[in-house]
Amino acid sequence: MKIAIVVGHNAKAPGAYAPTPIGLSEYDFNNLVADEMIRLSKGTVMGRLGGARPLELFKVHRALSSSYSTEIDAAYDQVTRGGADASLELHFNAAHPGATGSETLSSGGPKSLSLSGHLQRAMVKALARPDRGIKVLGPTDRGGRSLHAARATAALVEPFFSTNSVDLVAAQRVGIKGFARMYLEGLSGYAGFEREALPTGREINARNGFGTMHLETESLGRQEFFARNHALLAMAVENINKIQEERAHGEFFVPLTLVDAFSLMNAEMGMKGGQVDPGFVHHERGIGLVPLPSNLVYWNGDDAPLDHSRLTTEQNITEFLLYLSAIKNKPVGRPFAWGEFYTDLFRDPSTTGDVPGQMHLLAAVVNGWFVPQLYASPPDFATIAAKTAQAHLDPEPILRELAAAGFRGGPGTGRDDLRARLAHLNAMIALADPSLALESVRPPEAKPVKPAAPPVEPPVTGGAPVVAEKFRTTVTGFAG
Ligand SMILES: [Zn+2]
Repeated sequence: MKIAIVVGHNAKAPGAYAPTPIGLSEYDFNNLVADEMIRLSKGTVMGRLGGARPLELFKVHRALSSSYSTEIDAAYDQVTRGGADASLELHFNAAHPGATGSETLSSGGPKSLSLSGHLQRAMVKALARPDRGIKVLGPTDRGGRSLHAARATAALVEPFFSTNSVDLVAAQRVGIKGFARMYLEGLSGYAGFEREALPTGREINARNGFGTMHLETESLGRQEFFARNHALLAMAVENINKIQEERAHGEFFVPLTLVDAFSLMNAEMGMKGGQVDPGFVHHERGIGLVPLPSNLVYWNGDDAPLDHSRLTTEQNITEFLLYLSAIKNKPVGRPFAWGEFYTDLFRDPSTTGDVPGQMHLLAAVVNGWFVPQLYASPPDFATIAAKTAQAHLDPEPILRELAAAGFRGGPGTGRDDLRARLAHLNAMIALADPSLALESVRPPEAKPVKPAAPPVEPPVTGGAPVVAEKFRTTVTGFAG
C-alpha cells in the first residue's frame, strides 16, 4: 500500500511553534517525523509493515503559494501523481492553554474513517493524552481541503496541543522516533484491515440483533420489505432494547418501538428502481441499506465498526437501530426548555406512550431539527417538538413552523423533501403496529425520494446533529 506523508505547513510559514521541551515549529518537527517514518519503513525490522501489502511511503511538501487552496491543491496533486492509496498530513494543534489531547481529521468517507480510527487509537495509546476523537470536515471547513483534494484516502493528525504544558511533556517523552512508530502502527493497522475479509460469523453475532437469521432484501419494494421481514425486525428491536436496558444500569430507559424502526428505516433507506438497495452509497455516510452517522462510536460504543462499508445488511440495520435507541437514551448534555436533549424529548409526559409522536421526534433528531445552527435564528424548540409530535395527524403545521424559523438543513431538506420524508415516516406506522391505523395517514407519494442529504457542515445527515454535539467545543481548537 502506497502512502503519501504530507508535512503540514511549509518551510516559509511553518505553522505553530512548540516551545521547550520541543523547541520546534510544526513544519520542522513533522519533517523530522516524516523522514524517520520513511527510514523505519525501509528498515529490516519494520519492513513487513502492512503484512501482505507492505507500506511504501513517500514524502510530500507543501510549498508557500499565492493562496492557501493552491498550496493544498499542488501538494495533493503530488499525492495523486505519486500513486498514493492513502495520505497522512502531519500537524500538531495550538489553542488556549486548557485545550489538550489528540484528534484526527477525516473526510467522513468509510475508508477515511477507518484510517483515522487506526491513527487515532495509535496516538492515544502512545501519547496517553485525552482522546478527542475523529472530526469529520467538509471540503470548505478549515483544514478540510487537505482531506478532499485528492482521490487517495485521507487523514490529518493533530496529536497534541503545543499550547498545553502536559501535552508538550508527553510529546517530548514519545520523541521523534516514537511519533514515527506511532503513525506507522496506525497506517499498518489500516493496511492490514483493508486486507481482511468480512468479520467472522462469531464477530457478527456478537453485535447482531438478528443472530444467525438473514433478512430478505432481493427484489423487494418498500412495503414488501417490511412485510416479509416483520418478525425478524421485531426480534432485532427486542434484542436492541435488551442491550440498551442493560447499559442503562437501572436508570431510565425508553424502548425503541417497531414503529420507530419501520418508519425511520423507510425514510432513510436506499432505493434503486423502486426496490430496496442493500448496496446503496449514502454519500459520505457509508454503504448499506440505511445510512450510519460518521460518529457511530459516540452513539453505539467503542465496539461499533469504524468502517461502515463492510457490514452485512443485518449488521448495518443493527447499528442503525442501536443508534436510534441511543438517541432516545443517551443524554448529550444540551439543555432546552423541558430538560436535556435528546432524552427528555422522549420522557416528557406529553409524549410518553405516544408511539407515532415519539417516532416523529426521533426522526426530527436524526434530521437535525433540534440543532440551533441549522436555523436562520434559533427557534423555540418546545414549539418545534410539540408540532413534530403531531406530524402523523397533520404534517403541515410543523412544515410551516420549520419554514418560518428558517430551517436550512442543506440539500434534501427543502419543504417538499421534508413533506415527502414525513409521508414515508407515516406510511409504515400502521404496518408496524396495526392498532395505530389512522385515517389521516396517507400512503407515500409516488415519486421516489432519496434519503435526506447532509444538512450542513460537517456534511453528515444522520450524524449531523450529533457531530455538532460532540465537536461543538472543539471546532475552534484546530490550528490548521
Ligand atoms: Zn497545523
